[in-house]
Order: sequence, then structure tokens, then C-alpha cells
Amino acid sequence: MVDIISKKEAKDILNADLNTSLDYIKDINFERSNCITYSKNIFLPLTHICQNHCGYCTFKKDVSDVEYLVMDENKVFNMVSKAKELNCTEALFAFGESADKNDLVKSQLNDYGFESMVDYVYYLSDTILNRYEMLPHTNMGIISRDDLRRLSSVNASMGLMLETTNKHLLKTIVHKDSPGKNPDKRLNFIKNAGKENIPFTTGLLIGIGETMDDHIDSLYEIRKLQDKYGHIQEIIIQNFKPKENIPMKDYPEPAVIDLLKLTILASIMFPDVSIQIPPNLNRELISFFVLCGADDLGGVSPLTKDYVNPEAIWPSINEIDDVVNNINFSLKERLPVYEKFINEKFLKEKVYEKVVKLQKEIS
Ligand code: SF4
Repeated sequence: MVDIISKKEAKDILNADLNTSLDYIKDINFERSNCITYSKNIFLPLTHICQNHCGYCTFKKDVSDVEYLVMDENKVFNMVSKAKELNCTEALFAFGESADKNDLVKSQLNDYGFESMVDYVYYLSDTILNRYEMLPHTNMGIISRDDLRRLSSVNASMGLMLETTNKHLLKTIVHKDSPGKNPDKRLNFIKNAGKENIPFTTGLLIGIGETMDDHIDSLYEIRKLQDKYGHIQEIIIQNFKPKENIPMKDYPEPAVIDLLKLTILASIMFPDVSIQIPPNLNRELISFFVLCGADDLGGVSPLTKDYVNPEAIWPSINEIDDVVNNINFSLKERLPVYEKFINEKFLKEKVYEKVVKLQKEIS
């Protein structure tokens, strides 16, 4: 168990003046690896249908407004094949949540020969793992523990953003129509992933109406789960970006200084977990986040856009390499499962063999 700082100390870090923040930055950088990691991925938006209506979302679409209800397997495998040619190792599935509660989606899945979205994702993951030797990472919202277990047998890692522990947002424009965004459900899901020993990605969404205390509470809740199960591999600090066509279009962006201080806090509270910032949302600020303790830049795709923030183009790997080299760090490719989880406790048999092989290839 990691020695945890008190909530008062956490608050002091978030409230620190610039000189004090600089002292924290010096401490963080005094003895740390100079390695900043990223994963080379393809983003596969299997469906844009979702049971939730989050106030910041541009990913969800109505059935009348989609190119496809559920991406068919030919399209999935074509994309994966191209990604393989570009040496991507991660197949990142993205979805709306509980899409198969929609009758049209359910009927399309039945036409494809599957009972549910989980059945389909299992089949796709298994095929991608075995035929293309790429590693699936699934983030499909809240699913049962049995389904989690089943998918973990063909996924290298899985994920779910906690976003925030703030329950008041369930009554506001942010999450009032998003039952899946209930923090209790999400924490329980992350706990179930821990019980199943699934290498797990989670994170906070910043700037959606939550408070500084919520940031601290959210990190504390993740810390408790990490202390008990040790399965959290990375925490994403993701900043809300206003967009014209969303209910929250008038919400301001979070202040950069607050994001940097939160990165400092997360890196102090989680010396055993990577802190990730999305490089396409913080293109001009990557080096500042790295100096504040971020040590991972997430999935960077040479092939597909970020479907959640389609306006934010990925920087190239060369560009990121230059940025981190400029501050005396080096960029290193990783798999969608971090090295310390490459063992038979955290990876199921079929996945473990493929991961070991790919790890040798990128080393
Ligand atoms: S953010 Fe995710 S859960 Fe919320 S509406 Fe969009 S797709 Fe659904």
C-alpha cells in the first residue's frame, strides 16, 4: 500500500502558489524515469448508439443519423489489417453504452449472428488477437462482472473513465440523462475489474462542473481500489473541450494551471500508476504536463482520428518525440498493457502469449 497524503495536503497542492508548485515539480523530477510512453493504436468506433445523453458528448448519434448502427466485421478487420501494416499494436474499441438495449441495434447484431454486443466484441477481440496479432482494449461502459471476465480472456486491458465522484452532476445538464454515469456504478465496475485482475485504465474528466474537492475525492476513491486490487495501470487527466454542437457549449474550458496542479497531485498520489494526458487535447502543453508528472501520452493513432474529440488532430509520433526530447525525456512505445502487468496473474493465457511476443518486438 502506498503512503497516502491527507486530503488537506492534497488541497494544499491544488491551491499552491506558483513558487510552491515549482518546488513540487522539482521534487517530482528529482528521481524519476526519463521515459514517456505511448501506444500505437487504431480507434474502432463499433457503434455510436448510446443509452446515455452526456452534456459534452459528440460521439453519440441518433439512429436516424448514423452511417452504420454497428460496424460490420469486414470493415473492422479491414481497418485492423491496415493498422497492422503500420505496426499498430492496440485495437481500441469505443462504443456508446448499452447500445444493444436499442431494438434496431439488437436486431442488427442478431443479423450478424450474435446475441449481444458483448458476444460480438468477444468474437472481434478473439479474431483480432489470433488472426492479426494485435491487442484489443475494450471500453464499453458498464457491463456485468461475468461479461468483464469473459472479455478479459481476449483483451490485453480494459477501461472506464470514473470521470468524477460528483453525484450532483446527475441532476444537471451534464449527466441528468446518463444513468451509466452514476459514480457508484462506475466505482463498482472498476472494483469488479480489480477482482478479475484486469489491467485497467481509468481517469478524471475535468471541467464539467465538478469542484476541486471532487478531484481529490475521485483520486482518493481510485487510490483505495488500487491499494486493494493493484490493477490500475494508468489514470487519464482529460480536459473538457467545449464544442458548438453540444448542450454544454457555453461551459468554459478548465484553466491550464488547475490541470497542471492536478497532474502534480495525481503523480504524487500515484507513484505506482502512470499518469496520462491526451496529447491531442494539449498539443502546445505536452512538455509542461510531463514536467508536472505525466508519464504517458496514451494511444496515438497513425490511422484514425479521436472520435471523442474529432476536432483535435493527433500530433505525429515524431512531433511528440521532439517535444519530449527538448526537455530531456525520451519517448518509448508501449503495449496497451503496461510492462508490470505482463504476467499470468493479470493476463489470461491466450492474451499473455501474444503480449509477450509483441513486447519483444517493440523492445
Ligand atoms: S460520452 Fe459516452 S456515455 Fe456519454 S453519451 Fe457520449 S457515448 Fe454515451
